Amino acid sequence: MIAGPWIPHMLGNPVSLIPIAEARQLVLDCVRPLPAETVALGAGLDRVLAEDVRAHSDVPPFACSAMDGYAIHAGDSGRRLRLAGESRAGSPSGAALDPGDAVRVSTGAAIPAAATAVIPQEETEADGQTVLTLADSPEGEHIRGAGEDMAAGTVVLDAGTTLGPIELGAAIAAGAAELAVARRPRVAVLSTGDELREPGEPLGPGEIHNSNATMLSGMATRCGATALRPDHTPDDRERTVARIREALEAADVVVLSGGVSVGPHDHVKPALAALGVQERFWGVALQPGKPTWFGVAADETLVFGLPGNPVSAVVTFSLFVAPALAAMQCGHAPRPPHRHARLGVAIRRNPRRDQAVRVTLRAAPDGTLVARPTGAQGSHILTSLLAADALAMVPGGDGVLEAGAVVALEALVR
Ligand code: AMP
Ligand code: MG
Repeated sequence: MIAGPWIPHMLGNPVSLIPIAEARQLVLDCVRPLPAETVALGAGLDRVLAEDVRAHSDVPPFACSAMDGYAIHAGDSGRRLRLAGESRAGSPSGAALDPGDAVRVSTGAAIPAAATAVIPQEETEADGQTVLTLADSPEGEHIRGAGEDMAAGTVVLDAGTTLGPIELGAAIAAGAAELAVARRPRVAVLSTGDELREPGEPLGPGEIHNSNATMLSGMATRCGATALRPDHTPDDRERTVARIREALEAADVVVLSGGVSVGPHDHVKPALAALGVQERFWGVALQPGKPTWFGVAADETLVFGLPGNPVSAVVTFSLFVAPALAAMQCGHAPRPPHRHARLGVAIRRNPRRDQAVRVTLRAAPDGTLVARPTGAQGSHILTSLLAADALAMVPGGDGVLEAGAVVALEALVR
């Protein structure tokens, strides 16, 4: 029984809550960009460029044909031209191409320097010696100019770009063989809790499976990090200190799950204090995710103490850890598929906290994007994240936010 005045501390609640935007800024203020490293282009997938990529030379490197046909001098229909050679992709013709000549060309083949048009095969009649033009051929028709895709020296990809397959293709076309990318942040995930069992282990009374460790490591990987093998500690002060010390040594970012409140079995905050990790905030005006802790170690390792409830852990990782991992690589934080949507249903507001509501996004018949909660929104309802396309942010306040109201969206790392 609680005697005397009702003090929030006694229930493990943060006393004052800071706004989400302020918490995120405090995190970003502590980020130091990681140094660049060079990787072979084939190893560049999902990395973040540390330098601009410029075209080494014109792409395409030479004027070439857009069609299978004949390279000719521009002119009218009805000309009978002499077949003077052939230019295939990869083997250009040496023909001079006089005005009365035609050179057979395949798509992508270099055209003779004197050619000013290409006439498609289907607009000609050829007998093996001559070619009759059956259509007018204006200047430049069906010719791809050198540098039309990329002019030599122009920036093709900006520093900070995350490299997907298309970016890698563009870098190769630009002539690159290696790329300067940010080093991957090393992320150590450490879960806490006596009640947690490894995946598939039989459960004793009061026990549950440890879903957070694998989820949070996977989210770190999605954000371009190298996730170290997740570690776990029971709710014991000394072991918590020892495990966090190891994580701090191994990683650029430590992500703790659970144990961050101030109950008798929550050892994370005292352990972090004992290890000299400086608190930057504890308690965010966010539902779910209120008891989120963030601090920085002496060597500038970032430490996140995320609440143990699985949905809270996923939401706070998405809102605070993901932007930090992006900023360390000088990249862009994950973006939601759209920035705003209209609520499909009314949602009761929380008087003190903004709510991050798991929503599906669907276009209404008039094209408006509509956000609908995926189901029960308890912070333990992990299944409500399965169908979620994004988080809809419902500002704290009184009463309800009506259906039709415009809400900002945040990306879920998934
Ligand atoms: P805590 O933040 O440690 O007070 O935990 C809050 C709730 O989240 C409790 O119901 C825990 O059992 C649950 N929880 C904590 N850590 C995990 C985890 N790694 N995986 C799944 N559930 C967890
Ligand atoms: Mg716990």
